[in-house]
Amino acid sequence: CGIVGYIGKRDVAQLLLEGLQRLEYRGYDSAGIAIQGKPAKGAQSAGLKTAKAKGRVRELEARLPKRFAGTTGIAHTRWATHGAPNDTNAHPHLDADGKVAVVHNGIIDNAADLRAKLAADGVELASDTDSEALAHLIGRSQAPTLEEKVRHALSMVEGTYGIAVLHADFPDRIVVARNGSPVVLGIGEKEMFVASDVAALVSHTRQVVTLDDGEMATLKADDYRTYTTEGSRTAPSPTTVEWEA
Ligand code: GLU
Repeated sequence: CGIVGYIGKRDVAQLLLEGLQRLEYRGYDSAGIAIQGKPAKGAQSAGLKTAKAKGRVRELEARLPKRFAGTTGIAHTRWATHGAPNDTNAHPHLDADGKVAVVHNGIIDNAADLRAKLAADGVELASDTDSEALAHLIGRSQAPTLEEKVRHALSMVEGTYGIAVLHADFPDRIVVARNGSPVVLGIGEKEMFVASDVAALVSHTRQVVTLDDGEMATLKADDYRTYTTEGSRTAPSPTTVEWEA
């Protein structure tokens, strides 16, 4: 239902919860958040941290662990289509190694098929959702870059999606993709935002890039690029949104 993500210098948890609250008007049954943990001095990555809760954003907030610091993260409000509204089925979904986190809006039409194939390969699916398959497909891809892993996974998927992806081994970026579910990038000063709805962005930036269907993007703190799901670069055209606060 709703997606919001951030990469930059600010502490991300509160910022993402506020973004989710701005999407509340759309309705939802559960919410969740994943962040890149703050690495210890000298370390490259601290791994992903997640929290999820059935119910309101404030219930998710109450459940955040004490140590939940980081400057890169993604969050979601869910409107269940596949699997009951409960803590486990809330997004983000992780792959088996806990290295990949995915939030997904939309419906994966061939989810039953993908889930059965993953199960036959020995993958234990944690949730009943269509979306979880994406996390495992990305995590199992042998492609070298996160962009190619996501592209590889999406090539196996039929249906609609707006997704945002974190990977513990690629802590400097968020990869997003759109097919039938809106994804909007918010361009800031040494910080980037993503959301399914400009309402979650406008308090931070008015410079936005709306992805087309079949388009992906890589967000880094000080840079972004857009390309097709086949991998060829696209020229983004940022626009300035007018918004009555
Ligand atoms: N189909 C997904 C699910 O049921 C995503 C629903 C949504 O767009 O919130 O978990």
